[in-house]
Amino acid sequence: MAISKVWIEDGCTSCGLCEDICPEVFKVEDIATVKEGVNFNDFEEGIKDAADSCPVEVIKYE
Ligand code: SF4
Repeated sequence: MAISKVWIEDGCTSCGLCEDICPEVFKVEDIATVKEGVNFNDFEEGIKDAADSCPVEVIKYE
């Protein structure tokens, strides 16, 4: 499945885990954000890992 969109819903607790798992895609400052200009398909596994690992399950992709 190709990933065309990645986003963070409300509720991020800024734990930093997504950036630890996939720093190419996620950046955590005040809250987590998705970096611009990234080809998500190069990091599909990391994105899925981060979404599965997020303690509040706010990382979404499609
Ligand atoms: S893993 Fe989830 S809660 Fe933690 S910084 Fe990333 S989006 Fe926020």
